[in-house]
Amino acid sequence: MGRLLALALARLGHRVQLHEAGATDGSGAAARVAAAMLAPLAESAVTDLSVVRMGQHSLERWPQLIAELGMPVFFQQQGTLIVWHRQDQSEAERLKRHLDRTAAALPELPPAQILTAPLMAEREPDLASRFDQGFFLPGEGQLDNRALLTALLHGLREAGVQMHWHSPRRPEDFELGHAGQPDGLFDCRGLGAQQQWRQLRGVRGEVARVHAPEVHLQRPLRLMHPRYPIYIAPKPDHVFVIGATEIESEDRSPASMRSTLELLSAAYSVHSGFAEARVLEIATQLRPTLPDNLPALRWLGPRSLQINGLYRHGFLIAPAMLDATLELWQDGHSLHAERFQLRIEGAASAPLPA
Ligand SMILES: Cc1cc2nc3c(=O)[nH]c(=O)nc-3n(C[C@H](O)[C@H](O)[C@H](O)COP(=O)(O)OP(=O)(O)OC[C@H]3O[C@@H](n4cnc5c(N)ncnc54)[C@H](O)[C@@H]3O)c2cc1C
Repeated sequence: MGRLLALALARLGHRVQLHEAGATDGSGAAARVAAAMLAPLAESAVTDLSVVRMGQHSLERWPQLIAELGMPVFFQQQGTLIVWHRQDQSEAERLKRHLDRTAAALPELPPAQILTAPLMAEREPDLASRFDQGFFLPGEGQLDNRALLTALLHGLREAGVQMHWHSPRRPEDFELGHAGQPDGLFDCRGLGAQQQWRQLRGVRGEVARVHAPEVHLQRPLRLMHPRYPIYIAPKPDHVFVIGATEIESEDRSPASMRSTLELLSAAYSVHSGFAEARVLEIATQLRPTLPDNLPALRWLGPRSLQINGLYRHGFLIAPAMLDATLELWQDGHSLHAERFQLRIEGAASAPLPA
């Protein structure tokens, strides 16, 4: 979120400085570990309509934002596929009811389609022998998060943004408006803001990155399962991101043997080609999350704004958060934020106490 916003501000003509606690590769950011699926309808099963609306907006905005970066970033909108093993039919029926409710509330969203065996064979031939039914969610997307972080870095350099790496900062480190100090401040520290925004918590996720030349999947796939729901997101060159556990814990230690086994076994149950995959990485990270699991903007002072709580939806909603933030900053109010029903805490004139 910070890189995206810093670049947009620089392009608007502001002189921007970026302080980052970590390194150029985004290590330390949830953004580096994420699968970066852009799936508003699929996520409607676990989130509010406001996030779905932001996701829809962002799906349109990502291609424009990427085109402006001057470096290629893998982005695709081939839809999401949802499958289940026969014994988990009731899970699928429950999900379908959810998806239908979302479609009724947001008729502009392309509705889920039911895939029969021939359609499954057409869309994902590799899966046809294991799954003879599924849901297809048209228009949903994904991007390569690491390529995006690199391309944003390139854009920031080109735009003359002064970047300070290994440079952790807190809002109170700055005296806005004083000589030699900035006029405004945006705090996009994710979970790094926990000391100042006490309601933030981390929700742990574990993902595997594997190289599987024998697996051909065109689009992100979700496996419905009562105990081991997983997703598999294909990235370029037969790399797949397999995730992700959701654990209410701020434990940052490496993945456990059990969850690694569960994750990889569930992937193998989807496609036997994963047997010979090479495990490139097993990573864990914490998603920055507010109590209602929804994102928010929060005024810390008249020219000091926090953007946080992106939880498991950072890539899904970042362009929408960006557009709302810029409007709010420039005009004092945001029609985008109103349309999305994005929460704004405090006001520029009456900020909340930190
Ligand atoms: C396993 C997993 C899978 C996910 N999958 C998806 C997905 O498929 N789709 C999706 O939309 N979202 C997904 N997400 C969520 C997404 O990654 C987050 O919502 C998003 O990264 C949050 O963005 P952010 O910029 O707020 O925080 P972060 O990405 O965490 O970035 C915060 C940055 O602030 C820096 N920082 C921290 N403290 C300081 C400080 N004091 N001073 C300076 N810098 C500081 C950090 O180093 C970091 O670079 C996933 C997350 C995880 C963990």
